[in-house]
Amino acid sequence: AKKAGRNRVTLFNDDMRDEAQHQLLMHNDIINGLEKGEFDVYYQPIMHMDTGTVEKCEALIRWCHPEKGFIPPNEFIGVAENTGAIRSIGRWVLERVCQDFNRWTDMGLDLSVSINRSVSEFYPSGSHREWEDLVSSYGIDPAKIIFEITESLFMDGNESPVDELKQMRSNGFRFAIDDFGTGYSAINYLRNYPVDFIKIDRSFVMDILDNAQDRTLVEVIIKMGKALGIGVIAEGVENIEQLQALKVFDCDCIQGYYLARPMPVEDFIHFCNAYRPG
Ligand code: C2E
Ligand code: CA
Ligand code: CA
Ligand code: CA
Repeated sequence: AKKAGRNRVTLFNDDMRDEAQHQLLMHNDIINGLEKGEFDVYYQPIMHMDTGTVEKCEALIRWCHPEKGFIPPNEFIGVAENTGAIRSIGRWVLERVCQDFNRWTDMGLDLSVSINRSVSEFYPSGSHREWEDLVSSYGIDPAKIIFEITESLFMDGNESPVDELKQMRSNGFRFAIDDFGTGYSAINYLRNYPVDFIKIDRSFVMDILDNAQDRTLVEVIIKMGKALGIGVIAEGVENIEQLQALKVFDCDCIQGYYLARPMPVEDFIHFCNAYRPG
């Protein structure tokens, strides 16, 4: 048993070394890629159900690697969180979003933009002041910026950047809980850490038509949001039947392929100009 145990430890270390190597290579690729302009930000519209208008969008990073081609965020964000490259990504994304924001504002569009933030981007503490300075240097009203954070933000006790969140909110920035319903203490942290929006995870919306339990959970989350004065956005809406079910529950906003896929900023501006509520 002892020997098997030792072997396991050895294997584990080999795996860890490979993984560390992979992460280091990717880290360098990310940092170089940011400098070389391999990254882009796409925008996905978010529709308000009562008016049918697009007043919000979500910024989503895209990486077109010169050799490996398109690499989806789920394949590099996790690594970037581990190596710290996420902070460079986060700064870069915010700056790009500020530039794009002023582009569409100059063209007469009035939109809020959601930006994804990992918990680790709040460290070293004080990082958020850099973002605040950046947004203000572009002359953008902080209330137009929504930071999307997953529930895990609120789970790590001392590690949790709740003070930063509160500070930023008092300066006008807004926050959303991303992938709502997939974490642990979904209800508990709403008590302690006020946010402006909840985004119902796609996995609930996906099954809203044929799974009665998921449908009930969606209905309850929307009711809870209303009772607490928190806006509710349903993600991953792919067809009109899902949209109609969400409308019956009086969901505030929807986002998903049914309305539009994430797209480059030029296409997004074109989409908004061409879009007519209905
Ligand atoms: P997320 O924040 O939950 O973003 C929503 C994801 O769902 C996006 O995937 C989007 O393209 C996709 N999506 C939107 N509508 C639909 C739909 O109707 N059906 C389906 N099947 N999918 C839909 P994407 O762009 O691949 O991003 C994946 C994740 O990577 C994001 O999940 C987010 O957690 C992370 N991410 C993306 N950009 C950034 C970033 O700039 N910073 C950080 N920290 N994370 C990011
Ligand atoms: Ca998000
Ligand atoms: Ca999400
Ligand atoms: Ca997610």
